[in-house]
Amino acid sequence: MSAPLRIAVVGAGPAGIYAADILKKSAAETGREVLIDLFEHLPAPYGLVRYGVAPDHPRIKGIIQALREVLESGVVRLFGNVRFGEDITLDDLERLYHGVIFATGATKDAPLDIPGVDLPGSYGAADFVSWYDGHPDVPREWPLEAKEIAVIGNGNVALDVARMLVKHPEDLMPTEVPANVVAGLEASPVTDVHVFGRRGPLHVKFTPLELRELGELRDVDMILHDDDFGVDPDEESLKQNKQILVISRVLDQWRQREVGQASRRLHLHFWSRPDAIVGDTRVEALRIERTRPTEHGLEGTGEYREIPVQAVYRAVGYFSSPLADVPFDERRGVIPNIAGRVQDGSRPMPGMYATGWIKRGPVGLIGHTKSDAKETVEHLLGDEHSWWTPAPYDVDAVPRLLEERGVAWTDIAGWIRLDEHEIGLGAPHGRARVKVVDRGEMIGVSRGER
Ligand SMILES: Cc1cc2nc3c(=O)[nH]c(=O)nc-3n(C[C@H](O)[C@H](O)[C@H](O)COP(=O)(O)OP(=O)(O)OC[C@H]3O[C@@H](n4cnc5c(N)ncnc54)[C@H](O)[C@@H]3O)c2cc1C
Repeated sequence: MSAPLRIAVVGAGPAGIYAADILKKSAAETGREVLIDLFEHLPAPYGLVRYGVAPDHPRIKGIIQALREVLESGVVRLFGNVRFGEDITLDDLERLYHGVIFATGATKDAPLDIPGVDLPGSYGAADFVSWYDGHPDVPREWPLEAKEIAVIGNGNVALDVARMLVKHPEDLMPTEVPANVVAGLEASPVTDVHVFGRRGPLHVKFTPLELRELGELRDVDMILHDDDFGVDPDEESLKQNKQILVISRVLDQWRQREVGQASRRLHLHFWSRPDAIVGDTRVEALRIERTRPTEHGLEGTGEYREIPVQAVYRAVGYFSSPLADVPFDERRGVIPNIAGRVQDGSRPMPGMYATGWIKRGPVGLIGHTKSDAKETVEHLLGDEHSWWTPAPYDVDAVPRLLEERGVAWTDIAGWIRLDEHEIGLGAPHGRARVKVVDRGEMIGVSRGER
């Protein structure tokens, strides 16, 4: 019988955990034993499921249960609070494993190159999301001082951000939203949130479920503008797509609604390209250029308008970060790869694989990371001839290395402790959980030191 296959996975988001699960099952089918070590920079697993998906989406957060079962299956060891590139390096992994799967996702905002983007009051959506989801590495305070706010983007993240900004905080209370976030939202004077899309209402990247949810917000009017509709010459062919048809119906229903009673308003603007963020010392307005459809896409009309706002949130996509000693495509923000096999230019990098958002860019839902992982794992298992040749197996090698380097790593038992602690904090208040936000406290609870 061949020696166990040893694989490191970097990143314990859905892509990394699904890869571990599929690897375990696929190897078992061929009778091969596999040992998987999962290295995660945060003291808690689940990546953007915990730190991206909005707190008022408990059904999606529920995916965590399935991911947790993989972690508890006994084949995977979790090393939390361990950063690849600092606490553990590519050289270390090459010495200890047959190969590595990078699943480090994306955490930053993609850049938006317009004048005024650096003015105080202009924020990246990713930073705001990290704040409201209690990410340990962002400041605890968020300046919610604006009455009128612009959100740039027409994808689900723009909707999440707009919804979190306009929703009355009492309606978030049953969820796991952190206490400091509730306090911040309660102090917000917001009355109007404007969402801007460059293209028309039938070109949005929203999913119908997320869009429909906006119309159900208590004490919030949906405001749409008639001149944004009926502009597209391709309207009928676009509506052949079922998802677009549903979106179009939802928007049409809102256009018929009586408005004027609610204390807050959510405006959807289409055919509006952000041209500049305007202000002397801080954001005072968003200037947009009206666009129109052309045969090949879209063009500016030269008609400009300034919408007074005191804050702008840019939800124009996420972007991944490079990893030490690993090739990176600066333009696309991914690890260059062919179907999961890492490439350096035209040169394949033996033993190195990628999956999830770092493999194909920051688009797609959690479910897509499963098919990603399947492809990557299939190639890894087929590449036995080019795997790395590690030192003989020593179960204590990684813990010893981390201890020598003074890394306070957390494991699966520690995560379960923290999970139970958070659920316990929420229980007396009838809440799903109260997230621990402070990194030191997360580590202390996980390691049984508090
Ligand atoms: C705001 C937002 C809302 C979303 N809402 C939904 C939704 O409602 N439904 C849905 O299906 N999808 C949603 N998605 C998409 C979903 O989150 C992604 O499809 C999925 O999380 C991508 O998985 P991943 O594992 O590739 O990346 P991630 O989830 O980003 O996980 C990557 C992990 O790698 C870790 N990592 C990064 N660098 C290092 C390093 N150097 N060393 C060690 N670890 C590292 C990170 O800490 C993280 O835990 C949303 C995304 C965003 C941004």
